[in-house]
Amino acid sequence: MILPILTQEHPTLRFKTVDIMENYPNLNTLITDMKETMRAANGIGLAASQIGEPINLFVSCLCDYIPGFPEVFINTKIIQMVGETVIENEECLSLPGIKGKVARADIIQIEYFDENFKKMNEYHHSYIARVIQHEYDHTQGILFIDKLITKKG
Ligand code: ZN
Repeated sequence: MILPILTQEHPTLRFKTVDIMENYPNLNTLITDMKETMRAANGIGLAASQIGEPINLFVSCLCDYIPGFPEVFINTKIIQMVGETVIENEECLSLPGIKGKVARADIIQIEYFDENFKKMNEYHHSYIARVIQHEYDHTQGILFIDKLITKKG
């Protein structure tokens, strides 16, 4: 089911989300709906707070570009940010029409649970690290416009 994506003004986007347990009600349906919603919107990532669920969960579809790339991130923590700071343009499904440059760490180490609640600990770099940092920010109630270096459009 395609869910409505909340936009900028909605207070839920500003909530610091909570971690969830494996028995969170209807989790599999929620994940399926979030993937469908993200794909329908041509997004590369979608956080649960963007569809009104203030929980620490996001999905990505970078697996379309990078086979085997994880698609579901639950209870994500950034363990460390390393490497250079890289400045690139970002957009967000909750901020239609806004695009701007954001500085992100080039390399991150994250801990999270996958859709089977298997605990993962991984390093990611470049574009993937950027997408994860953007989605992680959603779980903390932060939008990329908070971090803009320049604003366009
Ligand atoms: Zn976003």
